[in-house]
Amino acid sequence: MSPIHHTATGQDAGRVLVLNSGSSSVKYQLLDMRDRSRLATGLVERIGEASSRLVHTPQGGETRERTGRIDDHAQALEAAAGELAADGIGLDSPALVAIGHRVVHGGLRFTEPTVVTDDVLREIERLVPVAPLHNPANITGIRTARALRPDLPQVAVFDTAFHRSMPEHAARYAIDVETADAHRIRRYGFHGTSHAYVSRRAAELLGRPVEDLNLIVLHLGNGASASAVAGGRCVDTSMGLTPLEGLVMGTRSGDIDPAVTFHLKRVAGMSADEIDTLLNQRSGLVGLCGDNDMREIRRRVDAGDERASLAFDIYVHRLKKYIGAYAAVLGRVDAVVFTAGVGENSAPVREAAIAGLEGFGLAVDPERNAVRSGEPRLVSPAGARVAVAVVPTDEELEIARQTFALARD
Ligand code: AMP
Repeated sequence: MSPIHHTATGQDAGRVLVLNSGSSSVKYQLLDMRDRSRLATGLVERIGEASSRLVHTPQGGETRERTGRIDDHAQALEAAAGELAADGIGLDSPALVAIGHRVVHGGLRFTEPTVVTDDVLREIERLVPVAPLHNPANITGIRTARALRPDLPQVAVFDTAFHRSMPEHAARYAIDVETADAHRIRRYGFHGTSHAYVSRRAAELLGRPVEDLNLIVLHLGNGASASAVAGGRCVDTSMGLTPLEGLVMGTRSGDIDPAVTFHLKRVAGMSADEIDTLLNQRSGLVGLCGDNDMREIRRRVDAGDERASLAFDIYVHRLKKYIGAYAAVLGRVDAVVFTAGVGENSAPVREAAIAGLEGFGLAVDPERNAVRSGEPRLVSPAGARVAVAVVPTDEELEIARQTFALARD
């Protein structure tokens, strides 16, 4: 292992710590924004359990792992800070200029990354009823980091922010307006940081300004969402009030008739919480075939497994419907862009989702599609009217970029 030693001066002050705090985990990355390198990445998981685990990888060094109880987020951040200090890149360094936080729900107010003040924190708290699984953990992460470095700007980067450009006719559900407004029920969209980053990178790949492009971005990870992006602005997205709506996901159903929920309550006697768990955790690919990893599903499909084949077909059918819908919303499509775990790695998903869409000018070149690479690339045939691209996402880099830009102002 070769620890990185910096003597920080005003000139090399370009580090940003990115924190993604979940209910029982904290993911962190320390980036140097002068060259966008990653000085260290790490994860603390199972916080609050006896079997807590910290995994830390310094740049160019070996991964270190520690196990043993970590009581709370404050201890988790202290443990991470200890690892960074051991590498000579501690959080007390003057080179660290800001801490960027992923915050899932920014409601209607937050359309941009925002420096956290007491007022901002109160507003993020006010959004807990619409993001009960995510915002409380994000708030804990911010509070903990603030206590550790109260002198540094803490920047909240919202998953919903990119989608705030959606026109009202795409953002509103067709339900009673007073009820919707009273309970802040509308389509917010998620994965916005990824959709924004991937749109920009896709424009670079195509060698055209993002302002001139109409893109369909398909973020296909364990959670999955599609967005229609016109001139760099989101005009529609598949996730809604919560990340449950839209595409078929690893464990989430995506779109269903809302009457399924009251049917389950009335006929199966299930409670709201039980239905929530069913649709968020026991549906999607896992509900359909028992697996949510696309590699395993493809292995089973290739072995002739009927349940896995049906799950794959349902997944792809939904994707196709969104591609068609967003082609109609945009009017003209310049590129369909695949990203995240499945989108970047699963050639069969890309092939099947685009198959039969020649009428839309869409096609996949089998050889290009089979290439495995961590770089942005085209998978459509040379000279195709509409590009099909694979662009690896990097939400941490985008959070760091937005945080750094704000901290420097
Ligand atoms: P993400 O949420 O973006 O980390 O994506 C995680 C998902 O990506 C996993 O659940 C897998 O289904 C999928 N995935 C990762 N690697 C591959 C691969 N090589 N081939 C197909 N799917 C993959």
